[in-house]
Amino acid sequence: MLIGIPKEILPAERRVAAIPETVAKYCKMGFDIAVETGAGAGIFASDDDYTKAGAHIFSDVEELFAKADLILKVKQPYMNPNTGKTEVDMLREGGALITFLHPAAPNNHEMIRGLRDKNITSFTMDGILRISRAQRMDALSSMSTVTGYKSVLMAACHLPKFIPMLGTAIGAIQPAKALIIGTGVVGLQAVATAKRLGGVVEAIDIRENARQEANSLGAKVVGFEMPAEVATGEGGYAKALMPEWLEKERKAIAPYVGGADIIILSALVPGEVAPILITEEMVAKMKPGAVIEDVSIDQGGNCALTESGTVVEKHGITISGIANIPGSVPVHSAWLYANNMYYYVENLFKKGIDHFDLEDEIVKHSLVTYQGKIVFAGALKAMGEK
Ligand code: NAD
Repeated sequence: MLIGIPKEILPAERRVAAIPETVAKYCKMGFDIAVETGAGAGIFASDDDYTKAGAHIFSDVEELFAKADLILKVKQPYMNPNTGKTEVDMLREGGALITFLHPAAPNNHEMIRGLRDKNITSFTMDGILRISRAQRMDALSSMSTVTGYKSVLMAACHLPKFIPMLGTAIGAIQPAKALIIGTGVVGLQAVATAKRLGGVVEAIDIRENARQEANSLGAKVVGFEMPAEVATGEGGYAKALMPEWLEKERKAIAPYVGGADIIILSALVPGEVAPILITEEMVAKMKPGAVIEDVSIDQGGNCALTESGTVVEKHGITISGIANIPGSVPVHSAWLYANNMYYYVENLFKKGIDHFDLEDEIVKHSLVTYQGKIVFAGALKAMGEK
């Protein structure tokens, strides 16, 4: 069984699906490993490092795709500008793929149909169940941790002020106020990072558990409360709010938005478009020079003025919609992701390295295409096929 590790294609993507440490573990399991030359350059791992771990280096990516039984990647398949072919085209008929596929996202439907038509067995890393046995495989949480940390640093770079309180010969500089809206995995790491930088941290969430966790990390929980049945749905996750509740929330949080120097937006409801919590009117009333880091942008954004993939200034406020934040902390993102991937693969082949354990509930839940069919419920629903 040959596992192939290609170099990621997107220019700003420096992560890689396997690091030398996990390559050595795959070899120990009995797999052969093929790594595209330069695949680890973004994390400062050389071809030599991979060879020492037991991998074979392939300079021809088409050959790597054609020979591999299973391809491990970080990002969904894209067009490879060097070969003029998409990675779906390069996969061998009947082969297998594990990566972040985001199969329900409309932009990916054509690619998912392509995997189906080539009879690829594909698994998505964003489809991993959130149960304790799957925690070591939970790449979404790993990447959220990175996003929460880096979002505060990005905001700090845009902020025309210090974050901590400073005593100077001229007088005391007051600390910046950071408001974290949405305290799931991203928001909690943002709370911790903003505290470490010396900010005064306020947090808002609609779930009681999330508020308690933010409080235990030292944030002052503000905003408002609502009945648990309005805010929390299946499995304890947030529910999409009815428009009248969203309006109440916007009104309740407006004074805190107006008083903040930094706002980190990470309020999401699984499988839904991100709720708009900050309107243009609210932005216009913010402190001049304040910064909004809208990390919910992949699901549409929590601020009405956020533009995807870029930083804009509106009403004197810097609003960042930069995407793929984990790719900007490649060494630790790749270390986390490659280990999540290793534990996923170990579980997938726990009944022997010559076949997938498709009966396992974590595997079943993340299976996207199999035997010429799309089987991922979220994708079928989004495609209107079920
Ligand atoms: P998420 O990214 O889906 O959402 C982020 C946060 O936004 C959530 O806390 C949510 O309550 C909040 N939110 C939604 N709508 C909002 C609104 N209108 N206003 C304010 N906040 C709003 O969440 P996540 O990071 O995936 O984590 C959700 C929960 O799942 C957390 O409690 C986390 O501890 C838990 N979790 C469990 C596991 C596991 O068991 N393996 C793994 C990861 C996360």
